Amino acid sequence: MPRPIKPRKIGYIPQHKLFVPYDKKRLSNDTILLLHDELEALRLKDIEHLNQNEAAEVMGVSRQTFQLILDSAHQKVATALVEGQAIKIEGGNYTLSERAHRCPQCGKIHQTNAIIEGNCNRKRRRCRNCRNE
Ligand SMILES: [Zn+2]
Repeated sequence: MPRPIKPRKIGYIPQHKLFVPYDKKRLSNDTILLLHDELEALRLKDIEHLNQNEAAEVMGVSRQTFQLILDSAHQKVATALVEGQAIKIEGGNYTLSERAHRCPQCGKIHQTNAIIEGNCNRKRRRCRNCRNE
């Protein structure tokens, strides 16, 4: 019997879930589905600059699994941009957990409350220690 896949921990559900090329009038069936855990992998690696170990730990997966999720996400986003396809953020095997940020001041990873649906505010990204200084 195959082992059930453990849900990936993510800290963020975006408010905007549909990205369509500006000159495309309607959604076609080549819309690319980006899973919520794939978006979180992109955020942790490409926005927060966590390394593979750190990001894997935050999402509660092995390094290898994290890399697979990230590769899939990069492939989908690149394909959408190059081929002019829409991206819809939907689904995935995840559980909402804390949201990891790298503090721009001290460089440590800190975790705050998850965002259930909204914009990930980048202005208040400093950790509590640095904010209280
Ligand atoms: Zn800090």
